[in-house]
Amino acid sequence: MSTTISIEEPPRLIGIVTKLYSGLLVIGFALLPAYLIAYLAFFQDPSLKFENHGFHEIAIAAATLEGLFVTYVTWRCYLSSGEPLLRWLTLGFLGFVLVYALHGAFTGMAHHNIWLFLLYGPASRLVMSVLLLVGLLSYHRAPDALKQRSNPRPWLRWIAVFVLIDLVVGIIANSPIAGNLAVRLSMEGGALVFSTLNVTVLMLRRIRSPLMVIYGISITFFALASLAFILGKPWNHMWWLAHAIFAAGFFLLSYGVVQAFRTTRSFSTIYSQEELMARLAEAMARTESALQELQRTNHKLEHLAATDPLTGAANRREFIQQVETEIARARRGGAPFSLLALDLDHFKLINDNYGHQVGDEVLQRFVQKCLDAIRPYDGVARVGGEEFMVLLPKAALDAARSIAERVRGAVATEEFYTGTGRAVAVTVSVGVSEFGRDGVTIDTLLRVADERLYRAKHDGRNRVVAG
Ligand code: GH3
Ligand code: MG
Ligand code: MG
Repeated sequence: MSTTISIEEPPRLIGIVTKLYSGLLVIGFALLPAYLIAYLAFFQDPSLKFENHGFHEIAIAAATLEGLFVTYVTWRCYLSSGEPLLRWLTLGFLGFVLVYALHGAFTGMAHHNIWLFLLYGPASRLVMSVLLLVGLLSYHRAPDALKQRSNPRPWLRWIAVFVLIDLVVGIIANSPIAGNLAVRLSMEGGALVFSTLNVTVLMLRRIRSPLMVIYGISITFFALASLAFILGKPWNHMWWLAHAIFAAGFFLLSYGVVQAFRTTRSFSTIYSQEELMARLAEAMARTESALQELQRTNHKLEHLAATDPLTGAANRREFIQQVETEIARARRGGAPFSLLALDLDHFKLINDNYGHQVGDEVLQRFVQKCLDAIRPYDGVARVGGEEFMVLLPKAALDAARSIAERVRGAVATEEFYTGTGRAVAVTVSVGVSEFGRDGVTIDTLLRVADERLYRAKHDGRNRVVAG
């Protein structure tokens, strides 16, 4: 199974061109409002106005509720990731809402004191653009400590600052300088400058994560909204377009916030597609190696479940399975096979004379000797304390007898040297049975082999009985 995702690397030139193209698309999309602004600037009829207070009030009430909702979601993201950018975003949205709400609230005053109505708009955008710029400058800073995140005091201080800004704007609106074009221009122009700076910094720092691309497009929209506000006059089409551009930017940025909320709750750790692909490939490679490890472990477990831990011989369950397989093969017309039942003679005495430890070693050596004496495809199993069985495929009774004799002889001729340095004389008795001749079921074959083993014991031990 392959872990790589891309099958073949496309030519380098196509890679460069598509990257350039996607960058241009993003810029082209971010500048979409500029085309609309140019269109209105060149073709709008200046006398066309849409002065509808009710519509304006409803739109701003909706914007305020939306703003509060987005502020809340951003704040939740900040609480969980502690990202400073999100702290400033939350403050930017909150500041915007608290100042902008008055723009809506004073719609009715438009005729009475136009400035009270008009100035809160640019003021709210100025506040937000400053806070978002500070936010961008904090991009990639270490997350805030948990204690700092949940401390309400800085938030309350900021709310106080926003209320103060509300008051100052109110005072300016009621002062003789209110009508001064410079006042409104400095606020809206300020918002334009700060948003432009924001996008410039974003591009200079080459921040390219998907959410930050969304962020950049939103801020470009904010800058262009301010431009449209500067070019527009209250209630004319450019002025309404400015609202629409700003709202579009706000919606887009809130989309980014919601994406963050639904994923990592952070703006900087949402990865680009390239990073995601690389991470996916890495994760798949890890999964594969874990899978291989699991298979190795499974093999080990299977082996453990099938073997006797002391001698390494197969255990009874495994042996029964091997015999069943052999019976099936023989029934299909294969060659006959035989079984040996082996029991060490007077093993109890070995334990008594030399100790249990030596007894264990004798069992291990015995299995080794058996393996040396039988053929590679014959299998030894430990079926009891000092009782063993050997499966001899393709061996009729005579062949089986001589193999049994070989085992018996090998055990009896040489003494067993154990770890203690003492030589121990060991002998073994063997009973043999052949499939077909002595039975066709596992039970009869085992019983016959056992009976012959018993006879070997009875006849004086250290011998083979086969029939
Ligand atoms: P026989 O010739 O009649 O087979 O005599 P025996 O002493 O070998 O037979 P018996 O069945 O009376 O005794 C078997 C002994 O094997 C008893 C038990 O303590 C010993 N034994 C069983 N399992 C182990 C083991 O894992 N390690 C050791 N050291 N001894 C074991
Ligand atoms: Mg025994
Ligand atoms: Mg015994």
